[in-house]
Amino acid sequence: MSGTPHTNLVYTQKDLCKVCYTCVRECPVKAIRIMNGQAEVMIERCIGCGNCVKVCSQGAKVYYNSNPEVKALLASEQKVAAIVAPSFAAEFSDIKDYKKLVGMIRSLGFDLVNEVAFGADMVAREYEKLMDLNGDRPHISSDCPAIVYYIRQYHPQLVSYLAPIASPMVAMTRILRKMHGDDLKVVFIGPCIAKKAESDEVNAAITFTELRYLLAANGIKEEEIEATEFDPPMAGKGAIFPVSRGLLQTVNKSDDIAEGNIVVAEGRVNFRDAVKEFESGLLNSHHLELLCCEGCIMGPGMSKGGKRYTRRTQISNYVREKLNKVDPAEFAKQVEEFSNVDYKQHFEPADRRIPLPQEKEIEKALLKMGKFTQKDHLNCGACGYETCVDHAIAIVEGLAETEMCLPFTIEKLHKSVEDLNLSNEKLATTQQALKQSEKLASMGQLSAGIAHELNNPLGVITMYSNILKDEAPEESPIRKDLELIVEQADRCKGIVGGLLNFARKNQVKLQETNIEEFVKHSLDSVINPGNVEIKFNSELSDAVVEIDQDQMMQVLTNLEKNAVEAMPNGGILQVDLSGNGNSVFINVKDSGIGIPEENMEKLFTPFFTTKEMGKGTGLGLPLIYGIVKMHKGQITVQSNADPEKGETGTTFKLTIPRKRQV
Ligand code: ADP
Ligand code: MG
Repeated sequence: MSGTPHTNLVYTQKDLCKVCYTCVRECPVKAIRIMNGQAEVMIERCIGCGNCVKVCSQGAKVYYNSNPEVKALLASEQKVAAIVAPSFAAEFSDIKDYKKLVGMIRSLGFDLVNEVAFGADMVAREYEKLMDLNGDRPHISSDCPAIVYYIRQYHPQLVSYLAPIASPMVAMTRILRKMHGDDLKVVFIGPCIAKKAESDEVNAAITFTELRYLLAANGIKEEEIEATEFDPPMAGKGAIFPVSRGLLQTVNKSDDIAEGNIVVAEGRVNFRDAVKEFESGLLNSHHLELLCCEGCIMGPGMSKGGKRYTRRTQISNYVREKLNKVDPAEFAKQVEEFSNVDYKQHFEPADRRIPLPQEKEIEKALLKMGKFTQKDHLNCGACGYETCVDHAIAIVEGLAETEMCLPFTIEKLHKSVEDLNLSNEKLATTQQALKQSEKLASMGQLSAGIAHELNNPLGVITMYSNILKDEAPEESPIRKDLELIVEQADRCKGIVGGLLNFARKNQVKLQETNIEEFVKHSLDSVINPGNVEIKFNSELSDAVVEIDQDQMMQVLTNLEKNAVEAMPNGGILQVDLSGNGNSVFINVKDSGIGIPEENMEKLFTPFFTTKEMGKGTGLGLPLIYGIVKMHKGQITVQSNADPEKGETGTTFKLTIPRKRQV
């Protein structure tokens, strides 16, 4: 018997694993580790129960395929026996006569087809002897290989309680070798994965599922096969083994259940509870009959979807029918014949327990999962562990990851969504700014072209109209017309000049400037109709900024001019200066009429103006925008045009880097 199931007894087909943690939850010994978001079977911890194979809805947990070994054995010259576990009656209920199945297995090339159940009959006698002999000393049944692995690996101090008796499979193998010689090769066929790793005495072990595959691959069909009986020795009651309490029934000990001397536990939760109670001394002087699955009839090597009680009935029907045919004298003779076979089995501890991590480390893992107080311990089980502490221990042991905690992951997702929203908003703002500057760039090009072309003819018009005006006598009626032409031509020049300014591509010429003086100077030149109070305030400790003075003066005078124009009935124009190490902030605030919400988006679009014909060009703000951007600065607007919402007015906020970053 090996200490560890072989390396790929059960493994994950990675592309199929959806990381639902069901296998983690269902594994009775926590032999499944989540690493980098993948469930991985740690074979040194595995007991081969195959629970994970049964519960994985994706078919991502698969077990070692022994068919190639079986094919090789059958292809060889050697004599090969198939020993069929009694649960076949529950698996192959689609085949009406079991003798047909025997024939089908035979036609695969087996020289012998035997029932494991006879091995169970003999093993049952050994159990009977053991219980009768040392009535006081309790025993743990050792016929289920997963249970044996469980005791050896996780309760090594209980190994001496394992009944020192071979399993029915090994017993049957020894019986057949006694009959047919030691060279006989033996292939076990049953419902169990752990059997593949149970014993070196058996040459190969396949599941019923693998057998079905072999039969189909060889085109073996029930209707074409001759029915044959199992080869002797014929089994008796032993065929009842695969249902829970089967061992007891075979041993004729079922009465003892009533007396409470024997504890029967089956299934991944119950068998562990029974062992725990046994270990703590609560079940002293009790025998334990343990099965890892809910009876072998629910083993992982059975076809999926079978019903437990239907299967039980199928087994009892088979056994009843069989017992009717057994000749008691003949059976007794067989038992006698094989009673001197060695049915002993020795078990060694193979400790796989991991020492419990230190309290401090568990605490740290809990904190990382956002479990700060007892209230945060939801113990929801979504991670596959029963409690948050169990999960934390597994994290410290390197078996689990923090992300397996669903509440933690959901919270993290919420946070990511928030962050994403934020960056999305930022992106939208940047996109809008980009659109704006693209628009400005193309407008700029067009305007520059037109302005350039218009500049010369305008110069000619201005010059000649001025000459004509000067030459016209004072009282001449055309003099007024000429004056109008000169005036309008000047206006055109102004517009063209503005356009050229707006479209200028020339670099900024940065000069160290005392911004306080500079702003004050700009305010001095504001044309004040007389009803506007002008205020200035600076909180700057360092007033030095690098700016292009010509351009920045245009920015300020344009903003101030707009502010004054927005206060036809007077008000306050306030310019505030503040800053930090990197930038200065210039706020130009007025108590004017404000900007209606629907206009806010259009402000920086060239030629957008709400002013009457001849007064506005709509080129001020686009020009400002261009200059601020060339200074690597920012401009934003806040405005209220609705008196119901509070004081009306507008603030333009400029952020200008003290030094232009390259
Ligand atoms: P213009 O002054 O020639 O109209 P601008 O580009 O300077 O062109 O301004 C565009 C428009 O923005 C103005 O017509 C006005 O509607 C609005 N505006 C700009 N500044 C203010 C302000 N301080 N208060 C109210 N509206 C403003
Ligand atoms: Mg303006």
